[in-house]
Amino acid sequence: MKEFDIAIIGGGPGGYVTAIKAGQMGKSVICIDNSKMLGGTCLNVGCIPSKALLNITHKYSEMTSQEHLNKYGLKCDNVTFSLDQMMSYKNQAISDLDKGIKGLFKKNKVAYISGTGSFVNQNTIEVQTSDGKIETISAKNIIIATGSVPVSLPNINIDEKRIVSSTGALSLPTVPKNMVVIGAGVIGLEMGSVWSRLGSKVTVIEYGDAVLGGSDSDISSEVQKVLTKQGMSFIMSAQVTGVDETSVHYKKDGKDLSIADVDIVLVAVGRKPNTNGLGLEKIGLQTNNKGQIEVDKHFRSSIPNVYAIGDVIQGPMLAHKASEEGVALIEILCGKSVHVNYNTIPNIVYTSPEIAIIGKTEKQLKSDNINYKVGKFNFAANSRAKAVGDTVGFVKVLVDAKTDEILGAAIINNVAGEMIHEIGVAMEFRASSEDIARVSHGHPTMSEAVKEAMLAAYDKPIHS
Ligand SMILES: Cc1cc2nc3c(=O)[nH]c(=O)nc-3n(C[C@H](O)[C@H](O)[C@H](O)COP(=O)(O)OP(=O)(O)OC[C@H]3O[C@@H](n4cnc5c(N)ncnc54)[C@H](O)[C@@H]3O)c2cc1C
Repeated sequence: MKEFDIAIIGGGPGGYVTAIKAGQMGKSVICIDNSKMLGGTCLNVGCIPSKALLNITHKYSEMTSQEHLNKYGLKCDNVTFSLDQMMSYKNQAISDLDKGIKGLFKKNKVAYISGTGSFVNQNTIEVQTSDGKIETISAKNIIIATGSVPVSLPNINIDEKRIVSSTGALSLPTVPKNMVVIGAGVIGLEMGSVWSRLGSKVTVIEYGDAVLGGSDSDISSEVQKVLTKQGMSFIMSAQVTGVDETSVHYKKDGKDLSIADVDIVLVAVGRKPNTNGLGLEKIGLQTNNKGQIEVDKHFRSSIPNVYAIGDVIQGPMLAHKASEEGVALIEILCGKSVHVNYNTIPNIVYTSPEIAIIGKTEKQLKSDNINYKVGKFNFAANSRAKAVGDTVGFVKVLVDAKTDEILGAAIINNVAGEMIHEIGVAMEFRASSEDIARVSHGHPTMSEAVKEAMLAAYDKPIHS
């Protein structure tokens, strides 16, 4: 039996980052993971492959959009693509990053077993290794970082061929003619964008009345408007009732309707925590009614030496959230006093334009009875945006009406995912909109729109 200070089950952005941090802090640590490569959902079938395909297809759509080409006076004839090469590029990026994690494990003395771990007792894990052996690991502390898996709808069986989850949608062998996406959340919009840009007729069917449920209405309406202009269709407030060999059936306004000749159905209705096969019953650890492992603010479960982080616990299912929790947990186990500030975890949708949201939304502030002011600035009035022809979207900031503290923000623009962190830093330091408005922002930059939105919140913007 091998003995460690810490054993981590799961090698996603939660588990592998936790393992590296533990190694850096001098702990003897092992990471057990059963995916093809390290990096979990994020690297194998999530963040990284989706962003690779989004980037390539964005370039392709720029080269083939007549509106773009005419606007810039460019000619780009006979642009074609090879789906096989696109997929090879994506797969190469994944395997390079997997090698990177393995290198970091080596550098930080993290032991790694490829296989499936399950509890024998609260200090012992049995691992069925991917080469068919059984290994037993003993550890003082065990961290569950087993992530999440896609969910489907009743009566719809995902076969990853015609009816796919995001996993299948990342590796389709041909471009579908007619694709239906069930769910207008982040994954539905990102994967719908990828295939729409390559020529699929994409129809998104959504149960709610707005895309990106939970967002403020000005965000969701702008996103739906832009994606519709790009060629995606949306059927809102509709309930999918079934999928057969050719059609998708749904109910809307009391009527039974169908879309015929559908070659691919992407079910993007959410994910659930993954605790299958972990043997939690052997240690008396129960999950809640959402399937999550409940933990206290130090990530400790009801079993004193068993901790959990990432998608398997409460909170947004995001890679960086899982990593932050892992780092904080190791520091706590080493006696430091730290916490994760969930309010400054950004949420980014990598469509074109990107949508980046941080902190509170207007909906949340209203329901919390907090008086707030809105500062908004459109990219149409930003000089860099005008110069580069990227004028869609806006920066919106929400500040406390009395103290001027920044409470939340949203940015819609092609570089929103990079821009949002300025506001994250400001919020971490509890800055006011005036503080940020008085910071000199380089000219011409998209970031000047952040400064102008801050000016709009506490005074008046200059350029609108
Ligand atoms: C299509 C898609 C796109 C996404 N894009 C983004 C994005 O752009 N940005 C972002 O922040 N998030 C994104 N996410 C979400 C992100 O992938 C997850 O939030 C993140 O991976 C969660 O990390 P984790 O470490 O908790 O779990 P995971 O990444 O799910 O890793 C868990 C690992 O544990 C392994 N495992 C499970 N059970 C066992 C066991 N018993 N023994 C051994 N190993 C086990 C799993 O196989 C997996 O490798 C995306 C997700 C999807 C599906």
